[in-house]
Amino acid sequence: MWYIIIFALLAVLLVIAGFVAYGRRKDEMRGMERGAGTGAGHTRAPVPAHPAAQKHEPAVREPGASGGVFRKEGLGPRIKHLFHGGVSDETWATLEDLLLKADLGPKASSDLVARVKADYTHGANPESLVHQEILTVLGPDESLHLDGGLNVVLVVGVNGAGKTTTIGKLAKRLTHEGKTVSLAASDTFRAAAGEQLEVWAQRAGAHLVSQERGADPGAVAFDAVKAAEARHADVLIVDTAGRLHTKQPLMDELGKVKRVIEKAGAEVGETLLVLDAQTGQNGIAQARAFTDAVEVTGVVLTKTDGSAKGGVVLAVREELGVPIRFVGVGEGPDDLRPFEAEAFAERLLSG
Ligand code: GDP
Repeated sequence: MWYIIIFALLAVLLVIAGFVAYGRRKDEMRGMERGAGTGAGHTRAPVPAHPAAQKHEPAVREPGASGGVFRKEGLGPRIKHLFHGGVSDETWATLEDLLLKADLGPKASSDLVARVKADYTHGANPESLVHQEILTVLGPDESLHLDGGLNVVLVVGVNGAGKTTTIGKLAKRLTHEGKTVSLAASDTFRAAAGEQLEVWAQRAGAHLVSQERGADPGAVAFDAVKAAEARHADVLIVDTAGRLHTKQPLMDELGKVKRVIEKAGAEVGETLLVLDAQTGQNGIAQARAFTDAVEVTGVVLTKTDGSAKGGVVLAVREELGVPIRFVGVGEGPDDLRPFEAEAFAERLLSG
């Protein structure tokens, strides 16, 4: 009889325990469902960020915003944000990505990351390391090398890059500094190139030597050297044709113009390559055709007032190995500025 009572009590206890366990499990399930809906469930394991997700540009809190408003900022704040939670291989890969997006090009981006990585120590300010490396890539600012006697400046570049406009602006700048300037219209191929240069010559107070369309560019350069010498000019700026930059005849023609100038008794002191900043990385490849053909001593980067990203300046410097002398900041006669590396680095980083 006692056995039966004890057995019955045990059976009741088992049933009660079973109900309690079932109730607890149900509560847990409800909690998990709630957590999945709001992201706040404490029973959920944290989901590790996918490496690809970390590659996205970090959003940066807008300064002064009370919270919740995010927008993209300059390179500097993004770099700071990137290094915020520690440094890993992913950090360096993302930094390279940021630089590529700013149009630095593959070589300048990977070289810059390698140098910053070599210099980086725990707690260092990554933004100022990048700033420093940008200045190292750019080197010291160099203005035009002009000395006594006649200084000949050959200007090369593809059509549309802004050669004629740049020659006009440069002539204005030099006459403003008190120099006597002559211009040679050696682009005898492009329709109206001579007329366009004449307008700029008048604006700048420079003397122009030109011939009819289709004339020999070398002959124009030869006459221009003689005329500039006769007028005791300080600077002769020579325009050149810019069509078919991929074809050998143009490059041969550039070499010929240079030789004729020397034959006329002058020396080409500077060869400036005019490059449209808007063409980005394509412009670099295009520029190489010129640097291979003539000894380019400086670059003028035009149309920097447009939508071009600043990084192209570093790509030009790193990939062509030629200093940037001037930047074009508009279409007006005064819209040519000497390039200043420090100011450039600051603008690129601050956005
Ligand atoms: P070229 O064929 O190389 O001689 O080029 P041009 O001097 O004729 O310039 C082509 C176009 O680019 C013209 O409409 C110029 O006004 C324009 N341009 C040249 N430089 C600049 C610049 O720095 N900024 C802007 N916004 N436009 C420019």
